[in-house]
Amino acid sequence: NTPLHELDPDVAAAVDAELRRQQNTLEMIASENFAPVAVMEAQGSVLTNKYAEGYPGRRYYGGCEHVDVVEQIAIDRIKELFGAEHANVQPHSGAQANAAAMFALLKPGDTIMGLNLAHGGHLTHGMKINFSGKLYNVVAYHVDDATGQVDMAEVERLAKESKPKLIVAGWSAYPRQLDFAAFRRIADEVGAYLMVDMAHFAGLVAAGLHPNPVPHAHVVTTTTHKTLGGPRGGVILSTAELAKKINSAVFPGQQGGPLEHVIAAKAVSFKVAASEEFKERQQRTLDGARIIAERLVRDDVTEAGVSVLSGGTDVHLVLVDLRNSELDGQQAEDRLHGIGITVNRNAIPNDPRPPMVTSGLRIGTPALATRGFQAEDFAEVADIIAEALKPSYDADALKARVTALADRHPLYPGL
Ligand code: PLP
Repeated sequence: NTPLHELDPDVAAAVDAELRRQQNTLEMIASENFAPVAVMEAQGSVLTNKYAEGYPGRRYYGGCEHVDVVEQIAIDRIKELFGAEHANVQPHSGAQANAAAMFALLKPGDTIMGLNLAHGGHLTHGMKINFSGKLYNVVAYHVDDATGQVDMAEVERLAKESKPKLIVAGWSAYPRQLDFAAFRRIADEVGAYLMVDMAHFAGLVAAGLHPNPVPHAHVVTTTTHKTLGGPRGGVILSTAELAKKINSAVFPGQQGGPLEHVIAAKAVSFKVAASEEFKERQQRTLDGARIIAERLVRDDVTEAGVSVLSGGTDVHLVLVDLRNSELDGQQAEDRLHGIGITVNRNAIPNDPRPPMVTSGLRIGTPALATRGFQAEDFAEVADIIAEALKPSYDADALKARVTALADRHPLYPGL
């Protein structure tokens, strides 16, 4: 029972340093969040020791009576949270949830449609060297140049031309809501399954602040660690009709033993996600993103060549367009990193710069909302970012303002 810092000081030192980094900087990567201590406690529990291939009540190993309880709690809670008929809480990650969902519904060579990666889609929605691009015939749809929003006329045209077996609606970098009813109508017209990947916006849905895709889709996949605020992991929700196919695609189709310690942590996070406190936090997440978008389209900022894709946001992230800025995405990311704000550069539609450089930034608010940021704090963050993206800026002064905000909202006090 030797503690980590004694058994392995090298790893312990890196873990401690990461805690300090999280505490002392402002985390604005849109896909990140801070899991509650109780979630980390469940994830760090003895459940990591248990093999439990199969599903609650139908395992291939003995001694599963307690992990059965945990997994059933997780299943029941997430079904209730999103109004789903079936839930599989075993996928190790969002990518594996998508792989399993596709494995359940498709054969290699089938046609799928998904949002182009550079237009905001995810790797697993059909990127060339991802499993999805290698196994399936991919027809990508795009956002409209003028509006920055998904071009549903193109989705309909491509669906009628290519007759996909599956249409994926979902995104990793898109600041607006999708029209799930329209996607379903198109899917029905061409005989396709509709799969919604709500990894990014699941927390907003759980809080009732974003349309719920579950009533519209055959299958809904999600991660549990983004807006949902739980441990890293994936989940698949589906109709009761598809339950058997989904379960056998996850195990034994794609995975062996489930991570019951992570499933316990998922269960805890689903309890949190059903609370009033969570709803209030998601509202601050949305308000924060709106405030940032509004303050990045002011004249003094646009004069520096900075603008906001689609002109604003309906979700937890803002996409900054740097095509007219002297800074590229990499330089802007580095500048913000230098003053203690962590974001990621992001390709934007029709990006003139290469994917490792890009002309965009993706700025998200979930982690800061979890940290307790209020509207005035988000306004201050927005102004700091705006100043940092101007041709000349005072790095030391901005860094001091970042530190003041971090100090005002301590993260993991006592850890
Ligand atoms: N789906 C979407 C829309 C995502 O944005 C992501 C991650 O960024 C994933 C799936 C994959 O999740 P994971 O990183 O857990 O595999």
